[in-house]
Order: sequence, then C-alpha cells, then structure tokens
Amino acid sequence: MICLGIESTAHTFGCSLVDSSGKVLSDSRDAYKAPEGSGIHPREASRHHIEVCSDIFLNSLSSAGLSMKDVDIIGYSMGPGLGPCLRVGAVVARTLAGFHKKPLVPVNHALGHIELGSMLTGASDPLVLLVSGGHTMMLVFSQRRWRVFGETLDITIGQLLDQFGRAMGFASPCGGKIESLAGQSSGKYTQLPYVVKGNDVSFSGLLTAAKHSAASNRLEDVCYSLQETSFAMLAEAIERALSFTGRKEMLIVGGVSANRRLSQMLESACERHNCKFFSCPIKFAGDNGAQIAWTAMQDYQSSGKSVLVKDATVRQSWRLDLVDVGWRG
Ligand code: AMP
Ligand code: MG
Repeated sequence: MICLGIESTAHTFGCSLVDSSGKVLSDSRDAYKAPEGSGIHPREASRHHIEVCSDIFLNSLSSAGLSMKDVDIIGYSMGPGLGPCLRVGAVVARTLAGFHKKPLVPVNHALGHIELGSMLTGASDPLVLLVSGGHTMMLVFSQRRWRVFGETLDITIGQLLDQFGRAMGFASPCGGKIESLAGQSSGKYTQLPYVVKGNDVSFSGLLTAAKHSAASNRLEDVCYSLQETSFAMLAEAIERALSFTGRKEMLIVGGVSANRRLSQMLESACERHNCKFFSCPIKFAGDNGAQIAWTAMQDYQSSGKSVLVKDATVRQSWRLDLVDVGWRG
C-alpha cells in the first residue's frame, strides 16, 4: 500500500510517498521564505503554497517513479496550523482524492512529527519532546492518547528563537543562525530569566530580556545565554517527567531538534535516568509530507476509516491530546 502525504500547516508545502513498511519513496517540499526581520505572513505563505503545489506534487510522483494509479490513500494535514496555509493543502487533497477516487485521511500535524520520528528511530514507547515553530510539549502515550506532561504557557521554543532572531534582523527561521552564533561565544553567560512552573515552561519574559541584553552585550554571548537558559528549562522539565513516568526511552522531534546543544543537554539528562535517547534524523526534523503520509497510513490500516471529500476541512487549533490513536498499544 502506498500513501501520498500532503503537508501545508505553516512555511512548508510538502508531498511525499510512503509505503506500508515505512519506506519513504519520495519527499518533495519547498518553504516560504519571509523577508529578513519579518515572520511568516499567513496570506503570503499560502500564496507561496499555491504557486509551488503543482510542481511539488508532480515531483513527489516522478522522483518515486510512480503515478496516481499506484497511490492507494491520501493523507493531509488537517491542523493545527495557519488557516490560509492549511486550506491550500486541504484543497489539493480534496481535488486529488475526488478526481482519482482515493480514500482521504486527515492527520494531526503534531502526531505526524511523533509517528515519523518513532518509526525512523525505532523508539517504541518514549517520553517525547516536541519542539517546533508551533509546539513545545512533553508527552507520553497512555490509554489511546498522547498525554501532555508539560508544555509552554506562552510562546513556543521555536517562536522564542525566531522572534529573537528577527529582532536582531535575521531572516526567519533563525534557530540555525542562533546556534552558530552561540558556538562562537566565549561562554560568557549573561543573566536571563529562567521560568519553569510546575512542569510547564514560559519563554516570553526570556525573549524580552534577551532583546534588552543584546543592546549591551556581544550578540554571540546573548545567543549562547539564550540557548543555555531555554534549553536548561526544557531539560529540567524533561528530567522531572522521566522520573515521574519511568520511561526508558526519550525522543525529540520537531524543527528545533536539529540543535546539537539541546540534544547534548537532553542526552545528559537521559544518561542520569538510564534512558535511551533518540533524535529524529535532521532531514525529517522540520515539516514534511512523509510525517503525514506515514501517520495516515497507520490510521487507515488500523481503522479502515477515511473522510468524505466534503468533510475534509481544516482545524487551525487541534490539540494533540484530543486525538485517539488506535494503532498504539
Ligand atoms: P518546524 O515548525 O517543525 O518546521 O520547525 C521550525 C523551527 O525549528 C523554527 O523555529 C526554527 O528556528 C527551528 N530550528 C531549525 N533549525 C534549528 C537549530 N539548528 N537550532 C534551533 N532551532 C532550529
Ligand atoms: Mg511542525
């Protein structure tokens, strides 16, 4: 069985073909680039998606050497995400499913990050840290759902890095640039607010303080301090969640999982708890169609359920802990 996955929640429009063994047969994508100093404008990003969607879709077929006759089901990101961007993916999915008469399976984007990360790393029952532009959540699977053991109370870790970077005049997404500047710091730590409440984190005060700090300190040192502070907050919450849940695997997924310093801190926390650390391969850390295809495949194979084209809408706010996951134990 082959599934076409369509991703369009934010900056990326992606199409990917995945087979039932989890082999990624193709992964075609293109990301909207915001002007330097600005964030994603939903309407501009959706225009980007409209412009590239046809080429991306055709490329996902041709690079796998397949045609729509070979595709058995179509999965698409139903949410959460930016409305105008989500709607482009939903229109493409509805059009293809209607025209080619294929079952259509809506997918929660956050679940897609986790399912693809688990499949690619082999983590079977992990404590998950989902860190991206849209999410900062710690989760474990219990009784048919991913349960939240900690999350951000305000902005996500991706927004912290991107908003700080944009204030410094960088082009979004800024996480990679901040990581490389932090690597050039002499290791001079400038004091920044560290806010962990229970097992939740808050980054908005840290963002304001880091912007102020940049006025009177070397940017490399502020980037270093920003990473050290925000990642230590996450590592503290992860360590507490490991103690509480007793999980022996930890998996990090989402675009921010590309950061080596964050992985280093989490690996140390895992070592102290005798826990195996897994990180989603960098190639699939950011948004992509394969995460949607693989999740739709598992959903369809376990439930046999699909939606009618008329019901294939979008859900801009769709919490992961509201989604029933029938294929996990
Ligand atoms: P996603 O929403 O999953 O596509 O992830 C995008 C987020 O990942 C953005 O906020 C980026 O700034 C962030 N990101 C990408 N690479 C890195 C990195 N090396 N370090 C930290 N954050 C990163
Ligand atoms: Mg994402």
